[in-house]
Amino acid sequence: MRKKKLREVESLSAKHFSRYGEFLVSFELSKHGWNVYSPMYDEYIDLLIHKHVCKVCGRTWNLTPALVCKKCGKDFSKTQKNRIIAKKICADCGHEMIGNKTRCEKCKSINLLNQPTCDKCKGEVEMVSHVCECGRKEYMTKFRSVQVKSSRIEHKDGKSKNTYAVDMKPRDLIKDKSHFYIWCLIDHNDKPHFLVMSVEDFKKTMGDSLKGISFFKDQDRQHFSAKDFGKWGKFLNKFDKLE
Ligand SMILES: [Zn+2]
Ligand SMILES: [Zn+2]
Ligand SMILES: [Zn+2]
Repeated sequence: MRKKKLREVESLSAKHFSRYGEFLVSFELSKHGWNVYSPMYDEYIDLLIHKHVCKVCGRTWNLTPALVCKKCGKDFSKTQKNRIIAKKICADCGHEMIGNKTRCEKCKSINLLNQPTCDKCKGEVEMVSHVCECGRKEYMTKFRSVQVKSSRIEHKDGKSKNTYAVDMKPRDLIKDKSHFYIWCLIDHNDKPHFLVMSVEDFKKTMGDSLKGISFFKDQDRQHFSAKDFGKWGKFLNKFDKLE
């Protein structure tokens, strides 16, 4: 079973494999609360991501309003919407009715007021905008651009070299504090590992190689251990860097 799956990922063309890496990175980013977008055409940026967070404590912000009972605080937003009782109150005689009435049962008035009602305490359900658990009402939007590089384990003469390889070129160096690299490394079991770094992190770790002729000529290929990721290991799962 395992062997068959491995062969499938290994047999993806370079182009498809790179799309596959972008997909895995997107999925991982969404687990960290990011919304992920793909550029209309491909230049140097593979993904554009954004998220809304509390301005003060950084918790993920929910932009859609919640449906909450005024009286007991029961939250109907997610799975409980169908439990909201459709109550109508006659504006003329005050008679209360349940269901899809268009006319007052008592005085025949068509002047009915809607009152979404809590099934638990009969209080009124209202729409409230999100307030953070920390009590703040202000949020902020973060935008980041991401470049994804993917690698499978390198082989030589049909034998695993237990290394990954990533190509870097001068044009990949986007000097922007909102720009990040995510390397997606697929091991022998098809399990992805993610290295997350800023452009500054990348430059620091590359050191003098950045001045190397091979880098200038678009021929720089960073090879590193598939076990501990060598000097790049410190960026393993560092999704916090994006924050
Ligand atoms: Zn907060
Ligand atoms: Zn209630
Ligand atoms: Zn009435």
